[in-house]
Amino acid sequence: MTRTGEPNFAPGAGPGSLMTRLQSEIRTSGPLPVRTYMQRCISHYYARGSAFGREGDFVTAPEISQIFGELLGLWCVVVWQQLGQPSAFNLVELGPGRGTMMRDGLRAMRAVPACLAAVRVHLVEPSAALRARQAETLAKVSGSLSTPVTWCSGMPDVPVAPTIVLGNEYVDALPVDQVVWSEGSWLTRCVGLDAGALTFTCGARFLDEPANRRWRAHLERLAPGARDGDVVELRAPGRDLASLDRFRETGVAVLLIDYGHVASGVGDTLQAVRRHGYHPPLTMPGEADLTTHVDFAVLRLQLEEAGLCVDPPVTQGAFLASLGIVERASRLARANPLEANGIEMAVGRLMSPTGMGHRFKVLGARSPHLPALPGLPA
Ligand code: SAH
Repeated sequence: MTRTGEPNFAPGAGPGSLMTRLQSEIRTSGPLPVRTYMQRCISHYYARGSAFGREGDFVTAPEISQIFGELLGLWCVVVWQQLGQPSAFNLVELGPGRGTMMRDGLRAMRAVPACLAAVRVHLVEPSAALRARQAETLAKVSGSLSTPVTWCSGMPDVPVAPTIVLGNEYVDALPVDQVVWSEGSWLTRCVGLDAGALTFTCGARFLDEPANRRWRAHLERLAPGARDGDVVELRAPGRDLASLDRFRETGVAVLLIDYGHVASGVGDTLQAVRRHGYHPPLTMPGEADLTTHVDFAVLRLQLEEAGLCVDPPVTQGAFLASLGIVERASRLARANPLEANGIEMAVGRLMSPTGMGHRFKVLGARSPHLPALPGLPA
């Protein structure tokens, strides 16, 4: 961790595998809250930097088709116009992975040279390995276009100016607390040891901790009839989303795309993904991607608390359709007839009503003085 308490992922902190280190930590200090377990696993996992793509563990939307990043680039152009076409603006990406979405977005922005000339890219990425990977990806576009790109550890490092913030599969990587209802109270769900293997267990009463009391009303509203064993997931917004009010006056637009539910619910969604398959979340700490579904109702409230006007989430399918994905795909296919099949399949995957097109939601937030954002009905 850095001095500010924000994550700074560096590989191989200490000897032994993460599993060995967690086992010895639990033996010495007792069970770890799920939130701490997630934090440890995620920082270990992304420090390696090899998660993405066919040869990695999972494939994200920008890695499926260049059209995804291009449409977001054009979305940014329209938002830049809504911001009053400033001669300089921040384009921030939270958790940029391999940098693919930013690369494709900047390429599409070339269509409007004044916008491209105004853009200042800021990448919020704790993993040193992924920062290097992003630099490599962006060198191909930004090198030739001389777009300034800087890396930072969080939104507080981004100078106050008109700002656009993008995050694809960023929120799902932020750790959650899990609480379990047991005999009349919510207990912190923890990871302990049973005969040497990691196992779920219950810790102290969650709401007794002063920092957790802000969740009391939410839990009472959500699960008035909770039964023993019910699990609820609670995700704090993190410093980056909580500090967006700094940009309210100059104008800020935020776009968060992730899988999750539009209404809060009861249930355990902790999942580990490795080599494109699901695994139990405790068997391979730090060797698989560990996430939970995003609760868009809570995320919405948290962005409102940061002083932003938040529009209802829409499905990824509806959002991409309204940005013209079908037309863009046909144009691309006509220009590259040998790739037409691949393009059609990729777009089908992004839009599938039984897959990503429906499971992924898009949430937009903006300074109250800005009009509705493109593709997002107010
Ligand atoms: N947006 C990319 C990658 C998604 S994976 C894509 O769609 O392909 C999650 C990304 O978030 C990784 O780059 C990971 O290193 C980063 N990340 C994880 N925790 C983070 C945190 N607390 N702050 C910022 N980035 C984080």
